[in-house]
Amino acid sequence: MLLSPSPRGADLGTRVREFIATVITPVESQYFADLAQARASGNAWKTLPLMRQLQEKARAEGLWNLFLPAGHGDEYAAKFGTTGGAGLTNVDYAPIAELTGRSFIAPHVFNCNAPDSGNAEVLLRYGSEGQKRQWLEPLLQASIRSAFLMTEPGVASSDATNMQATAIVEGDHVVINGCKWWSTGVGHADCELLIFMGLSDPNAHKYLRHSMVIVPRSTAGVEVVRMLPTMGWYDEPHGHGEVRLTDVRVPLSNVIAGPGRAFEIAQGRLGPGRVHHCMRLIGLAEHALELACRRAVSRTAFGKPLVNLGGNRERIADARIAINQARLHVLHAAWLLDTHNLSAINAVSEIKVAIPTMAQNVIDMAMQIHGGASLSDDFPLAAAWLHARAIRFADGPDEVHRGVVARFEIAKYRGAES
Ligand SMILES: Cc1cc2nc3c(=O)[nH]c(=O)nc-3n(C[C@H](O)[C@H](O)[C@H](O)COP(=O)(O)OP(=O)(O)OC[C@H]3O[C@@H](n4cnc5c(N)ncnc54)[C@H](O)[C@@H]3O)c2cc1C
Repeated sequence: MLLSPSPRGADLGTRVREFIATVITPVESQYFADLAQARASGNAWKTLPLMRQLQEKARAEGLWNLFLPAGHGDEYAAKFGTTGGAGLTNVDYAPIAELTGRSFIAPHVFNCNAPDSGNAEVLLRYGSEGQKRQWLEPLLQASIRSAFLMTEPGVASSDATNMQATAIVEGDHVVINGCKWWSTGVGHADCELLIFMGLSDPNAHKYLRHSMVIVPRSTAGVEVVRMLPTMGWYDEPHGHGEVRLTDVRVPLSNVIAGPGRAFEIAQGRLGPGRVHHCMRLIGLAEHALELACRRAVSRTAFGKPLVNLGGNRERIADARIAINQARLHVLHAAWLLDTHNLSAINAVSEIKVAIPTMAQNVIDMAMQIHGGASLSDDFPLAAAWLHARAIRFADGPDEVHRGVVARFEIAKYRGAES
């Protein structure tokens, strides 16, 4: 098992760390001030000028689209500038994603943010040449943004076979009807690409009933009904929306990989995407622990620094232990994805359960040490906690992933029982 980055991965990691420290961190609070101002003037649903400047600098440094996978993204990595001409393994990308996860804006600066990176991977792995030209290339240039429309308000969407919205083939078109929600990214003014999952053949095998279809955002019948707050936050400029699709017609050539292949594609899309979430959450937990320690040694109550009160030292130690364990767990899943691909499915589910909860707990500890300040905007902790909490739902809730882990574990003993 090899969990260290290659020399190229390590070099990119060093450059990303340097870029974050010298280019992003110094202007991060300015970015949020600009966003607050844009929000106040009702103009926050677009890429702010400061973000464009940061993206241009990152691209000029070759720190762009770093998520592109080895063996799939090489042509595009070379074409759109970036990782020295080839995609990275998951083990190479893990420490880089961790660094970007410390900051709320860094993934966007490097064009490595969800859901665009996951949607780009769908097109990369399953898209036709025409689909790649029309949608993947502008995504990799950040000239458009995208959303992934799977979850529906009317059905329990942790069971993807439940999806009721329809994508019916009629001649050389597909007709789409239904309602989706929690469509991340759909609020952005540049969100032109919707990847929609719908029921296309109710009589087929349950894993062959659904199709993945490209729906241009501007197609007649697509309506963003509302943007959803997550515990009061709208997550501008991307947000999470409810989208109604009424008699939306797109050409049959917009179906990705052909009708009935949505489940296969969703597996391919969500595997790396889930690992990327976990990698970034390690960085977020590290940041929270750093803030907790700085606060605990610099503030005094009852005549002692906070760090020496109650069980705070133990809590800090437990956070360090939990983060280090989590990092190794994620690297193990990354290595399995690189070397065993589909058989890594249970390892991906393991980390999808373990890491968001670990991050939520570490951030919660850091919040407690910060007292009331933690709930204000003066510290990034409340937003960090919310993010970790939300990821316990996004890409499948904890229980569904526990089900996968249990299935693999129990399968080892099925023979022994009989
Ligand atoms: C911030 C955020 C962003 C999101 N972004 C997107 C996006 O871009 N695109 C998209 O399509 N969706 C997105 N989602 C939706 C997310 O993927 C769904 O919320 C998730 O899959 C769960 O579906 P559901 O909400 O319908 O919950 P339900 O299916 O109704 O499940 C509710 C609860 O039931 C329990 N449960 C479910 N299955 C089991 C089981 N097998 N065993 C035990 N208990 C179980 C769990 O406690 C679960 O939380 C996002 C969600 C959030 C919060």
